[in-house]
Amino acid sequence: MPDTRPHLPIDDHCGAILEALRTHPVVVVAGDTGSGKTTRIPPLLLELGIPATKRIACTQPRRVAAVSVAERVAQERGVAIGSEIGWHHRFGRCLSERTRIAFMTDGILLAETRSDPLLRRYGAIMVDEAHERTLNIDFLLGYLKRLLPRRPDLKVVVSSATLDIGRFREFFGGAPSVEVPGRVFPVETRWRPCDDEEADLARRVADGVEELWTSADGDILVFLPGERDIREAEESVRALDLPDTDVLPFMASLPPADQRRVFRPVPGRRRVVLSTNVAETSLTIPGIRMVVDSGLARIKRYNPRSRVERLHVEPVSRASADQRKGRCGRLGPGICLRLYGEDDFGRRPAYAEPELRRSSLGGVILSMADLRLGPIEDFPFLDPPASGAIRDGYRELRDLGALDADLRLTDLGRRLVRFPVEPRFARILVAADEGKTMREALTVVAALATEDPRLRPLDRREEADRRHEPFRAKGSDFGSLLRLWRWFHGLPSRTAQRRKCQESFLSFRRFQEWSDVREQLRRIVSRLGMDPESGADAPAPPA
Ligand code: ADP
Ligand code: MG
Repeated sequence: MPDTRPHLPIDDHCGAILEALRTHPVVVVAGDTGSGKTTRIPPLLLELGIPATKRIACTQPRRVAAVSVAERVAQERGVAIGSEIGWHHRFGRCLSERTRIAFMTDGILLAETRSDPLLRRYGAIMVDEAHERTLNIDFLLGYLKRLLPRRPDLKVVVSSATLDIGRFREFFGGAPSVEVPGRVFPVETRWRPCDDEEADLARRVADGVEELWTSADGDILVFLPGERDIREAEESVRALDLPDTDVLPFMASLPPADQRRVFRPVPGRRRVVLSTNVAETSLTIPGIRMVVDSGLARIKRYNPRSRVERLHVEPVSRASADQRKGRCGRLGPGICLRLYGEDDFGRRPAYAEPELRRSSLGGVILSMADLRLGPIEDFPFLDPPASGAIRDGYRELRDLGALDADLRLTDLGRRLVRFPVEPRFARILVAADEGKTMREALTVVAALATEDPRLRPLDRREEADRRHEPFRAKGSDFGSLLRLWRWFHGLPSRTAQRRKCQESFLSFRRFQEWSDVREQLRRIVSRLGMDPESGADAPAPPA
C-alpha cells in the first residue's frame, strides 16, 4: 500500500533514530511540537525487528492525548482503532491481542510494573513529553534506567518538546540524541496586562478573541487554566456572536465526539478553540493562526513552611508560554496575544520546576510504596530529593499510620494512596467516611488544598479583619471555613457573589477554586465507593 501520509519534519530523521537505537538502548529525541514525534516514532520502532509477540508502548501524561494520538495513528495507517493500534488509560481501554502499538497514560505503564516487573510485554517504550517532568515521568525514567541492564533487548525513546535534554542524556549514560526542528514562522506578540487579580478572565479572553478575530484570518486557540474557565470563556465568546464561527471547548470531560470536533475543521467556518495546557505540546490542533494566552495553568505546589500542598492557578514558565505562542506559527505568520505584561513574563522562571520539587514527599513515598518502586532514597531520580525532606516524609506517614515500623504500606496506607491529595488530607476524608461527616470534610479539605479566600491587603488589614469577623466560628478554624462556604453558596447569583466578595475582602476567584477542588474530591470519593453526601449540612451562615 502506498504511503499517503503527509511529510513531517521527523521523517528526515528516522534513519538517525533507528541508527542511534542500534548502538545504544536509549535515544533522546528533542523536537518542536508538531514535528511528528508522537505519531511517527512508535510506528517507526516496528522497524527495529521487535518480535511480533511484543508491543510498543508510548506513554502520555494525559488521557485525552493518549486517545487522540492513537486515533490519529490508526487513521494514518488505515486500520481500525483497537486493532494494531490501541490506547489505554485509567477509565478505559481500546486494545486487542493484535495490538502492536499501545498509547497509554504513564500511570498505566507504571501500574503494569507491579504484575510485570521486567515489562516483558514490551519491546520498546517511548516516554513522551518528558520535558513535563511529572512525578510519573520521573518514576518511569528511573524505573527504566534500573530495568535496562536486565532487559538488554529493550529499546527506549525519551521524547521532549524542548531542547533542554542534556540531563536526560547524562542520566542514561550518555545516550545519543536527535534534534528535529519544526517549521516556524514569525509570531507577533501583543501584551495585554491587567493588574486586578479579581478581574473577570472570561471577559478579558472575549476581548482578546474579538481583537484577534478582526486582525487576521484563521482559527484562534485560547489557553486557560481549568474547565470552569473554559466554560465561562465559552459563554463570553459565544456572546460576541462572531459570524460563521464555531466556539469549541476542548477538555478531558467532554464526550469523545465533541473532542474529535477540534481535529475536523469545517470548510468555510472559523473556529475559536478553548483549551487547557493539553494543547501546549501534547496535541496539535489544526488550522491555528492566532493564540490568546491567559498565561495561567493549574499547578500543584507544596509549601515546605506551612507543610501544605495546594492546587494553585499560577503563571506558567517562559518555556510554556513560548510553546503556547509557537502553536500559531506552524502554518504561517501568527499573532499571540498574552493577557499579561512583558515585565511579568520576564520575571517568570525559564522552565517549570519538576513535580517532585513541588510535591509533599509523604505523598511521593506513599505512591512509591504502592507501586513497589523500593525505598525512595535508593531510587534513581533525575533530581533526587533532599534527605531531610525524605525523613520528614517518612515521619508523616508513620504518624498517620500509613506505614508500619518496617516502613511497609499498611491497609490504611493503601486507602490513602488512592486519593490524589496529600496523605494527611486523604486521612481526613477516610475518617469522615467512617464518622459519616463527608460533606463537611470535603468542604474543609478542599479549603485546605486551595488558597484562603479571605484577603488581607497589607495596608488595610484591620478593616479586612473586621469584615471577616462575622464568619469567625469560636474556637474552630474549620468552623469558620464552613461558614464562609455556606455564606457564599447561599448568595442568589454570580453577580451577587462577586459584589459581596468585593465588599467583604473576600476573593471570588478563590471561592471558585475552592468549589472546583471540592467537586473534584467529591467525584473521587464517590468513585472510591464512599458516600460523598454523608453528614449534616454546614452550620448556619452569619446573620
Ligand atoms: P509532535 O508529537 O512532534 O508534537 P505529532 O506527531 O503529534 O507531533 O503531530 C505531527 C503532525 O501531525 C502535526 O503537525 C499535525 O499537523 C498532524 N496531526 C497530528 N494529529 C492530528 C490530528 N488528530 N488531526 C490532524 N492532524 C494531526
Ligand atoms: Mg507529541
